[in-house]
Parts: sequence; C-alpha cells; structure tokens
Amino acid sequence: MEDRFGHHITYLRVSITDRCNERCQYCMPLEEQDWLAREDLLSYEEILRVVRVGASVGISKVRITGGEPLTRRDAIWFFEELNRIEGIKDIGISTNGTLLEKITPQGITTAQALKNAGVRTVNISLDTLDRRAYAKTTGRDILDKAINGIDTARAAGFEMIKLNTVLMRHHNEHELKDLIKFAGDRELLLRFIELMPVSSTHVLTEENFLPSGEAKKLIEFQLGKLKPRSDFKTNGPSSYYQLPDSDQLIGFIGAMTNLNFCETCNKLRLTSEGQLRPCLGSHLEFDMREVLRNPNMDDNDVAKFFLEVVDRKPQQHEFRDNYQPGRKMVAIGG
Ligand code: SAM
Ligand code: SF4
Repeated sequence: MEDRFGHHITYLRVSITDRCNERCQYCMPLEEQDWLAREDLLSYEEILRVVRVGASVGISKVRITGGEPLTRRDAIWFFEELNRIEGIKDIGISTNGTLLEKITPQGITTAQALKNAGVRTVNISLDTLDRRAYAKTTGRDILDKAINGIDTARAAGFEMIKLNTVLMRHHNEHELKDLIKFAGDRELLLRFIELMPVSSTHVLTEENFLPSGEAKKLIEFQLGKLKPRSDFKTNGPSSYYQLPDSDQLIGFIGAMTNLNFCETCNKLRLTSEGQLRPCLGSHLEFDMREVLRNPNMDDNDVAKFFLEVVDRKPQQHEFRDNYQPGRKMVAIGG
C-alpha cells in the first residue's frame, strides 16, 4: 500500500489492551483509570482477521503493544495464531519486560513461550537503572522484574532485543552512559526516544523535554565522538550511531526535533478498541471495529478500509504544531 506522499506501508502496530501493570508518568497517569469495557475491546479473533486482511494488502510486519500486552489473558495463544498468518514475516512485541520472567502453565518463561510462538523481536522499555527513579517514573517499585525480564529474554534467544529509553531532563540525563554500558554488556540495541505529547500528564513540559541532539552531545562529551551509521536500519525511524572504539550502536528517535522523521514512515496503528490510525501524531482515526462487526461487510470491505485509511495518511505528524494530546499513549498503543 502506498499513500499520496510515497510512504510505503508494510507495518501494522497493534495494541491488544489499554491496561498496564505500570503507570509511566508520560504515558498513563497514576489515578484510577477508565478501562475499556470488554465488549469495546477488539477480540483476538477480530484482530487476527484485521491482520489476515492486512497481509493480503501488503502488511508483512506486526508489532504487538499496549498498554502492557502481556497483561492480556491468553496472549501466547494469540501470538501463535498470528504466526500462522500467511504473509506475516516479522512479529514483534513492545513490553515493559516485567512479566517476561513469569512461568507459563507449560513450565517455561513467558519470554521463551513468546519465542516459541514465533516472536522475532522484543522491544523493552527501560528509562533508568536506579530503583527509586524507576519506581518514580513507572509508579511501581519493580526494577528487578524489568531487569530479570531483560535477562530472561536474552536467554530465550530472540533475533533482536531493543531497549527503549524515553529521554527526560533531570530524570535520566545523568544516566545515559550507564544505560549504554548496560545495553553494551548485554549486546542489546539501545534507543533514546524523545518525549512526545501523547499523554495528558504534567510531565510533558518544556522543562522535562531533553532533545536527542542534546543527549547525543552529552554522550559524546563522556564517551567520545559518535559515528553516524545511516547504513544501519531497523524497521523504525531511529537514527543509529556507533560508539568510539566499539561495535556498539545506539539509536535516537527524535520525533520532535528531526524534521525528516516522517519521510520513511511505513506504519499504521490499530488501537485496542479497533480504531485504525494512520499516524501517531495526528488525531485522525477511523473506526475499523464498525466494519468488522457489520454483518453486511466482508473481508473485501476490510481491505478497502485499509486502502482508504492509507490514502488519508498525513505527510508528517503534527507534534510540532502545538499539538494537544487527545488520547494518552496507553490508549493508542506505543
Ligand atoms: N507497555 C509497553 C512498554 O512500556 O514498552 C508497550 C506500550 S508503551 C506505550 C510503548 C513505548 O512507548 C514505550 O517504549 C514507552 O516508553 C513509549 N512511550 C510512552 N509514552 C511516551 C511519550 N509520551 N513519549 C515518548 N514515548 C512514550
Ligand atoms: Fe505501561 Fe508501557 Fe505506558 Fe509504561 S509506557 S505505562 S509500561 S504502557
């Protein structure tokens, strides 16, 4: 599928839940949440249908996210079914990592069960290595679970494990070097993500925003000149650099400051209640659930819907245009 700006769409990011066992300040506020009612959430069968039809119109990569996807019941079964869909060549998951060590009824770790179910890449959030800072940022004092989860994922032998760190001034700017070392020691690909206005919380301030260019300078000051590695690409918008005297690469996801950020966008998002979003940084969304639940509409209509939404994909996000957060990240699926 190609949009009117030449974006070639092959990647669907699917949120399977709006719930989470953490409360990251920039994603979901601490207070009581209005969770989606069960009937409002797409069923696994409905999501599998969307992916099956998506594959027939050119989707080849799917990443499952949330909320925390591993809080939804029978997630492993769902991944197994996803892996059976013809045309889907790459399945990934984004997780906070804290449930990866959990033992399944089969007596293996959740990480191993995901690997066995066909998941190739795992993205794990880790903003800090300091227990108190972790508890403050995520609202949960479970840094040990996140780190055990990372090590459990390594033991499971995934093709690629990436660590995602959201940059926040005063919160983790002094830890960048330690996070790089943590990732390097474990041969994981670390990416620093700029804070985006996709939450309604108090942390989305100018003061908390740490631009990726500044983070890069801080790292260069401490570790030496970073070498651009534009030849290295993953499926997303990260720009990669190589550390001096090392093979280690680190990435920057500069959604706010990189003016070319949207040029290579290949993505659509499906929210947990079935809204198809052509862009994270635009309020545009289209009700796929209505199509799926309409007995008079078949897979051809679902395919047509995909093409119509792709046709409405904006040239670039609106984050730089005084964008006011509508739905929180946890509701959209990061
Ligand atoms: N719970 C999983 C996790 O934490 O990885 C998956 C969902 S989470 C919404 C996906 C990613 O979005 C995480 O890496 C998280 O750090 C990032 N994220 C959430 N809110 C953000 C914000 N306001 N700005 C930038 N990244 C954000
Ligand atoms: Fe949960 Fe992930 Fe959002 Fe943190 S970033 S609150 S772990 S969904």
